[in-house]
Amino acid sequence: FLSDKSAKVFVAGHRGLVGSAIHRKLVSLGFTNLLLRTHAELDLTRQSAVESFFAAEQPRYVIVAAAKVGGIHANSTFPADFIGVNLQIQTNVIDAALRCGSVRKLLFLGSSCIYPKLAPQPIPESALLSGPLEPTNEWYAVAKIAGIKMCQAYRLQHGLDAISAMPTNLYGPFDNFHPENSHVLPALIRRFHEAKVSGAKEVVVWGTGSPLREFLHVDDLADGVVFLMDRYSGLEHVNLGSGKEVSIKELAEMVKEVVGFQGELVWDATKPDGTPRKLMDSSKLARMGWEAKISLKDGLVNTYKWYVEHVAKQQ
Ligand code: GDP
Repeated sequence: FLSDKSAKVFVAGHRGLVGSAIHRKLVSLGFTNLLLRTHAELDLTRQSAVESFFAAEQPRYVIVAAAKVGGIHANSTFPADFIGVNLQIQTNVIDAALRCGSVRKLLFLGSSCIYPKLAPQPIPESALLSGPLEPTNEWYAVAKIAGIKMCQAYRLQHGLDAISAMPTNLYGPFDNFHPENSHVLPALIRRFHEAKVSGAKEVVVWGTGSPLREFLHVDDLADGVVFLMDRYSGLEHVNLGSGKEVSIKELAEMVKEVVGFQGELVWDATKPDGTPRKLMDSSKLARMGWEAKISLKDGLVNTYKWYVEHVAKQQ
């Protein structure tokens, strides 16, 4: 892949958190023939549109970063969208990639929520389908599991070089910074920033602060995706994490410092902690020779800068 920089690479979902990071990475590496379509230009849920697009464009590489994503609230409000739209997008893209005949390699992106609710920690790849899912996001998870299995089946039956990567909790530019509906890291960046600007004395953080979470900057994810495109052609999916855990308390202290908020932290224990620990076992990828390079501190500085320039300024 890295020796084929003039090849046509289709990045599905290049406007999202993940796809935009992959797009930036490929540009910085010198890829010259990127194939990009906005949602308005190509609706990936429409099979005939996707087939015509692949037949006309004949991409050599495909990275599937397009998906309907959202938090716990969105998942429980729109279950049909989370299973239906995601199944449509991935099925159309993977199938068209086979039919058009030009695709040498495809990478499908999933998420750590594919694993059972009570999976061992850190979670190895082999935990897939070993127990019941977390019910709040099972719609999304079932679609993503189907995507992994579809890549495996297309490899076995048709010889399509389709691989899957499962990232841990991601953060970075283009994240969702909604005050209530976003994940903890962007939520805290926003809350501390707004408290600093308004001169508030305290910031409320949810739960007890004791849960442990793993975070990966999207630029590291993009680096890992390129690494796998270049080096991996196995049947099994691959976990993509930083391997580093922090408590929510440590995270809140770091965000406070990066933002430069001077007041106090207040814990709202009426809000749920969620699962006590969520860490992926990324040793398979480590054994292949890849590791995350962006420290949480540097990643927070970079993400806060992006937030100030792109979100806070627009308000
Ligand atoms: P999870 O990893 O699926 O549990 O998703 P979240 O990112 O939403 O939450 C991670 C942890 O951060 C939980 O223990 C939350 O209680 C805690 N947390 C603290 N403050 C916030 C906040 O403002 N927003 C969110 N989403 N979580 C918070």
